[in-house]
Amino acid sequence: MRYTVALTGGIGSGKTTIANAFAARGVDVVDADVIARQVVEPGRPALNAIHEKFGPRILLKDGSLDRARLRKQIFTAPEDKAWLNALLHPLIQAETRRQLAMAQSVWCLWVVPLLVENNLQHLANRVLVVDVDRNTQLSRTMARDGVSRAQAEHILAAQASRETRLAAADDIINNGGSPDAVAAQVAVLDQRYRQLASATQQD
Ligand code: ADP
Repeated sequence: MRYTVALTGGIGSGKTTIANAFAARGVDVVDADVIARQVVEPGRPALNAIHEKFGPRILLKDGSLDRARLRKQIFTAPEDKAWLNALLHPLIQAETRRQLAMAQSVWCLWVVPLLVENNLQHLANRVLVVDVDRNTQLSRTMARDGVSRAQAEHILAAQASRETRLAAADDIINNGGSPDAVAAQVAVLDQRYRQLASATQQD
């Protein structure tokens, strides 16, 4: 498997922006949110299993998963949430390993918003945490998603704290400044990860 760096951070911290900056430097990016959607696409075994368990009401007219309905279902029925996690967890992990193994770049970036919450640190060679102060995080989330401060605070409260996330970090990228400031950090980290990846392959 490629040398893998997991990129994590809270909502609105700048994960997507930073992943794009690494991708522009030729780094292959694997996105946990994309994989979570791919494993339940029409034609995939997981969607058939979900359909069998919850019936046709769990599908939209076009045959794709009605995510809002599924969310509601597992919110009200913890045993269904456990069932769904048991179904999806191994599929997501297998698909993640498959995509990481297919990466062609010297090292690969794995974007995982809930890395710390789901305790997935061991799957990566290194953990890179995007750090911003709470106010910046809230204002960027509000501006991007058109949500109120209360809504943004609510989402933040459901995620790992800044301290917990930083405690899991091998490296920290500060995104409190300008896009130029973050691009400079991306360039330095890319160099470091290229060196670490080469050194690891020689072992
Ligand atoms: P995440 O993927 O972690 O939720 P995004 O990368 O989407 O975060 O960034 C959240 C918002 O903040 C986006 O609208 C993005 O354009 C903006 N943003 C990200 N980094 C910066 C920065 N350094 N300066 C100003 N705005 C930024």
